[in-house]
Amino acid sequence: MKKRILVTGGAGFLGSHLIDRLLVQGHKIVCMDNLQTGAMDNIQHIADKITFIQHDITEPLPALGHVDEIYNLACPASPIHYQANPVHTFKTSVIGALHLLELAKQKKAKIFQASTSEVYGDPLVHPQPEHYWGHVNPIGIRSCYDEGKRGAETLFFDYARMYDIEIKIVRIFNTYGPRMDAKDGRVVSNFIVQSLQNKSLTVYGDGQQTRSFCYVDDLIEGFLRLMATPKHITGPMNLGNPNEFTMLELAEKVVKWTGNTTSLQYEPLPQDDPKQRQPIIEEAKQLLNWEPKIMLDEGLQKTIAYFKERV
Ligand code: NAD
Ligand code: UDP
Repeated sequence: MKKRILVTGGAGFLGSHLIDRLLVQGHKIVCMDNLQTGAMDNIQHIADKITFIQHDITEPLPALGHVDEIYNLACPASPIHYQANPVHTFKTSVIGALHLLELAKQKKAKIFQASTSEVYGDPLVHPQPEHYWGHVNPIGIRSCYDEGKRGAETLFFDYARMYDIEIKIVRIFNTYGPRMDAKDGRVVSNFIVQSLQNKSLTVYGDGQQTRSFCYVDDLIEGFLRLMATPKHITGPMNLGNPNEFTMLELAEKVVKWTGNTTSLQYEPLPQDDPKQRQPIIEEAKQLLNWEPKIMLDEGLQKTIAYFKERV
């Protein structure tokens, strides 16, 4: 069945890939974005196929007409951007979620929330299952993002319980790929751009902290599969690639695949930087028959090819 789908944050990295896939399925797309960290460039190739509305979801939503489904991806995702105006980040997650949940209630639309592995904070349980409640500093520099996303999850479940709306929540673990913003400070884009420019790779701390990197196409496939599940499957569900690497291992791989010999420059570890992160994805495997297919070496080569065109 062809649907009319609202994607917030649709001009961002993940949102633009999601819209590409939804268009292939034949749906009508309304993309809402305030262009805070996204870019019209990301949706230029589909500009004539979608309706674009420049709007900040912390403000009351404009009239939107019929909506069958909502994907809420609006929120800056990289520490430098979400920390630039932490109050606005928190409002985006909480007040933005409220506006979209009200819309879902009004339109009887199914609603999807892009939550994050950051809800686990600096986890004391490793790897992280969905039932782990996390270890989050409520007053640190990352809290606007972590606690905002936790608050959004709370609102989603309370709306589902109070108003019987259909919710789907994913907890996304570090995802990379083409259309990441070269300047948003995330480790994969930083290392690739630095290496392509023959600059030193900036390693924060001793580089022994770990992350598990998922290629964007795998993640979006998981989004679509969760959205297609029956109503009782709500999540929150981990989506990510369980292969875990230290930042030094990542640096080594980036250097290998760019072919440039680059040195490392050690810089201080940011406050509250999680030491380790790895998803348990048994729920996604069982309920969605999903698991990542593109491993880090292949994904890095695809991402490097994208940045080579632009750097
Ligand atoms: P991104 O910064 O590329 O995309 C976010 C988009 O939301 C941008 O286009 C931005 O302009 C828009 N936006 C931000 N605040 C807004 C507001 N108040 N109103 C309207 N639009 C707004 O980041 P991304 O990596 O594509 O992340 C998308 C979503 O996935 C975010 O919610 C993020 O928290 C979540 N997420 C991403 C990752 C990852 O590794 N990429 C990991 C965990 C969670
Ligand atoms: N990081 C790094 N060098 C960089 C950017 C980030 O060593 O140039 C580290 C950062 O401290 C963190 C990890 O890489 O430990 C992942 O950072 P990113 O911002 O990509 O994601 P997040 O911390 O939100 O998981």
